[in-house]
Amino acid sequence: MAVAQWLAHVFTEVSRAIERAFFGQSQFRITTSAFNTAATIDNGVQAKLALAEVRTQLSRDFNIELSWPILLELKAPPAQGWKAMVYNPEGNMARHQVVDFKGNSAHQMWVKPGLTRGRFKSLVAHELVHAFQREASFLTQNLSLREGMARWVEFHFLKGSAEADRLLKLKHYTFGRSIESILEFESKSGRQATLQWLRSQG
Ligand SMILES: [Zn+2]
Repeated sequence: MAVAQWLAHVFTEVSRAIERAFFGQSQFRITTSAFNTAATIDNGVQAKLALAEVRTQLSRDFNIELSWPILLELKAPPAQGWKAMVYNPEGNMARHQVVDFKGNSAHQMWVKPGLTRGRFKSLVAHELVHAFQREASFLTQNLSLREGMARWVEFHFLKGSAEADRLLKLKHYTFGRSIESILEFESKSGRQATLQWLRSQG
């Protein structure tokens, strides 16, 4: 992490120097901290650092490890139809899809720029759960548990913040109720058994 921090610091300084050279001043928003402590995720370097942290946490806490390449773009996902808006009142903040990348499968992800670091990481975690479901080929039929599992991991990433409570209270998102059954399963049987149960679903 020290190298990443150093790189982020160098990147910040170089960016500001370039801006000053071209515009006579620096509007650069990150002035006091390194990229990996930035309050909001506004550029690709911050996004990549946050992505790396999410992957570490997913591996440690949920045994979720991905081998296909991840192509993360910091931009709002393409608009969806009205049905998606009805199913997901959270709106259009992040999306995952499997794409062909040099003849192999890869995960393409879009996340809206400018989100707080915590929200960004929880959404990346959510989308990486869908990525893992595709790679490991489970929950292909059970849409309710598929979305529920992603929300469950997202919830754990947000835990302790006001956002987490809000997530649980969302009533109308896609198949929302299954997050409650997963949390219940987890409180009775523990994290490992919950992961095993979910992974055994076709
Ligand atoms: Zn989802």
